[in-house]
Amino acid sequence: MSERERWAPLSLTLAGIPFRGVSIAGRETWFHVPSLDLAFDVGRSPAEVVPVPNLFLSHAHLDHAGGLAYWASQRRLLRQPPGRVFTDPAAVPAWRQILALHGGLEGVAYDVTVDGLGPGDSVDLRKDLCVSAFRADHRVPTVGFVASEVRRRLVPGWQGRPEREIRAAILGGEEVTKRSPRPLFAFSGDTGAGIFESAPREAFEAKVFLLECSFVEEGDLPRARNYGHLHVDDVAERADLFANEALVLTHLTLRGTPAELRRTIARRLPASLASRTVLFLPGE
Ligand SMILES: [Zn+2]
Ligand SMILES: [Zn+2]
Repeated sequence: MSERERWAPLSLTLAGIPFRGVSIAGRETWFHVPSLDLAFDVGRSPAEVVPVPNLFLSHAHLDHAGGLAYWASQRRLLRQPPGRVFTDPAAVPAWRQILALHGGLEGVAYDVTVDGLGPGDSVDLRKDLCVSAFRADHRVPTVGFVASEVRRRLVPGWQGRPEREIRAAILGGEEVTKRSPRPLFAFSGDTGAGIFESAPREAFEAKVFLLECSFVEEGDLPRARNYGHLHVDDVAERADLFANEALVLTHLTLRGTPAELRRTIARRLPASLASRTVLFLPGE
């Protein structure tokens, strides 16, 4: 398989959620999840990510973020509505400067905001959808994200009461329901093994979890540690943590063919997890 074929966007539907993207260690990473109106990371800003209104940027390494100014510029050219970027608060001032500088060079102002979403923070994208951030473990400030479907449930004291009474209480301004987010789709960003302590339970309970796993070869564990990435053995050791319907291993190395990577990973993961694990790689 040529490098060009390896680089083509892949489309998957897991747990009923379609998504599409590219994710290759050190080269490019972006994922577009149309039903959630968002993209995780922007890579080099492919044309199909330009119309996506909400961008959740895990960190500033250019394989994940190099296209940000181009995304902002293209949105303006294509007369898209205002775009929103959420990323680690520590990176926000520099990104605002970069966008202002590019806008200045182009003699325009981009209609894009960049805001911090720190660990534990969350933002509502729609009435039924919120995204929260958590700390990842990488060489630069990095956050992962969990997108959750938001439903409202009756608070315990009101469960089982007649609908008439509940309606009356709502009309009277009483709080009879509370938010009940259900984690759908999680994205780790780039991360080392610290994520297993810093990520919330929701990431491991989301229907789909996109987890960075750059290294698979037996001797590569020290390299994974050094670069702030995961090795498949880190994942195998914690197989019991994952309650996800589908675990997607992303950001895989270009060293080795997809077939070789599949074989190595299948050997190293316990069967209980291997059966729910998808490698973000092209088919044979
Ligand atoms: Zn990366
Ligand atoms: Zn990185």
